[in-house]
Amino acid sequence: MQTFRPGQDGYSEEIAGFQTSVPTRPAVVAAAESADDVAAAVKYAAEHELAVAVQATGHGLTAGTDGLLISTRRMTGVEIDAAAKTARVEAGVRWGAVIEAAAKHGLAPLSGSSPDVGVVGYTLSGGFGLMARRYGRAADHVRAIDVVTPDGEPRTVTPGDDLFWALLGGRAGFGVVTALEFGLVEVTELYGGGLYFDTADLPAVLRAWRTWAVTAPDELTTSIAVVPLPDLPFLPAPIRGKHVGCVRIAYLGEDGDQLVEPLRTAAPVLLDTLKRLPYTDSGSIASDPPHPHPYHGTNATVEVLNDAMLAAIVDHAGPGAPVETVLIIDRLGGELARRETDGVGWDSAAEFVVRALSVVEDDVDTVRRAHAKLFDALAPWSTGRLLPFLYGAHPAGDLAAAFPAGDRARLERLKAKYDPAGRFG
Ligand SMILES: Cc1cc2nc3c(=O)[nH]c(=O)nc-3n(C[C@H](O)[C@H](O)[C@H](O)COP(=O)(O)OP(=O)(O)OC[C@H]3O[C@@H](n4cnc5c(N)ncnc54)[C@H](O)[C@@H]3O)c2cc1C
Repeated sequence: MQTFRPGQDGYSEEIAGFQTSVPTRPAVVAAAESADDVAAAVKYAAEHELAVAVQATGHGLTAGTDGLLISTRRMTGVEIDAAAKTARVEAGVRWGAVIEAAAKHGLAPLSGSSPDVGVVGYTLSGGFGLMARRYGRAADHVRAIDVVTPDGEPRTVTPGDDLFWALLGGRAGFGVVTALEFGLVEVTELYGGGLYFDTADLPAVLRAWRTWAVTAPDELTTSIAVVPLPDLPFLPAPIRGKHVGCVRIAYLGEDGDQLVEPLRTAAPVLLDTLKRLPYTDSGSIASDPPHPHPYHGTNATVEVLNDAMLAAIVDHAGPGAPVETVLIIDRLGGELARRETDGVGWDSAAEFVVRALSVVEDDVDTVRRAHAKLFDALAPWSTGRLLPFLYGAHPAGDLAAAFPAGDRARLERLKAKYDPAGRFG
């Protein structure tokens, strides 16, 4: 296993990830290639009393580290068991690799908007994706977790084990996961894409989407994004350089055109990209940016989406917002509300999650203040926060709010059991 220290060739490349706004300067980086390498690195950290952080892609960094960084990007093994409809993946695998491998057998994983996101970080955060209202969260499908605990011991945990519960939602605080085994679903294609509207029509479109989304079948997973798009040639002419509202759709049924009719008539449509597509093209629905950049983001789950909240969203994240913001509202419910995960809980009262993300040039405090105004306005209806959409550094209170109150005491007990020195996560 290669290791890198500050000043050595390869150090900067090894710590570089997708999120570039979180400064990190580990004393040593372990470029793990196997579970044995991870165990050796964790034992070294225990002997030297170093804090341990882990990075696959850097999409979800919330804190840097000055201790040991375990880089898992070389651990890219993917095995599909077509008969059992399961996948087993190593710690550095991105969703795109699982999507491709599973599609060869007519199967798909519970992946999210971007194929570049890491499977392990997403799943341990409680991530949910394009088929979430039909099949729940990725965590709901996990069968086994291989993990190296802070004492350096490799273990395999399965549903019913306390460590299995803590890892699924507690993320990196309990050890370094070396492999995950999870179920796949029989999906090869969907009806998906976006309907783009001018933000001048945003109030009408937001109301129409809300009404439509709450009565939609579970086979539909949808969000609405309010996005300032750059004036760049790769974007289609009707939306280039515009501030748009985009309804994003992933539908597993056959009657997609019929289902979206009320939205197509809500306001003039600037661009309509809805069509049947193979699941292997599912990343085109949100078309998340592929290039590393600095960003800060937060979110709140809410139990309703009333007119006062929609007005606050337009004021604080629309075209006149003090800081350019990508604002996304996801419809929750369906299987997300029903599943009993053997992991840190899900707030089944939450009907939507409102998330804000801004590029950070230099002044993260200006971005934080702008986001705080929006989320203060939503606070009367807010039920908590979701861990996967806390991007960048956050106060401890925001991170704590990502764990349901009922689960926090159990998490603390397990933290004291598995990581008594508090060196992980
Ligand atoms: C463009 C983009 C699109 C996204 N789309 C979605 C989406 O559709 N749905 C959704 O729910 N979320 C989404 N997310 C959020 C994403 O799920 C989280 O940011 C997730 O934590 C990223 O995991 P990663 O491994 O890619 O990132 P990393 O930054 O490498 O890891 C994030 C964190 O996960 C933990 N971690 C990673 N690997 C391990 C391991 N082997 N053992 C223990 N802990 C580990 C660590 O705490 C690490 O800091 C998106 C994020 C981005 C930037």
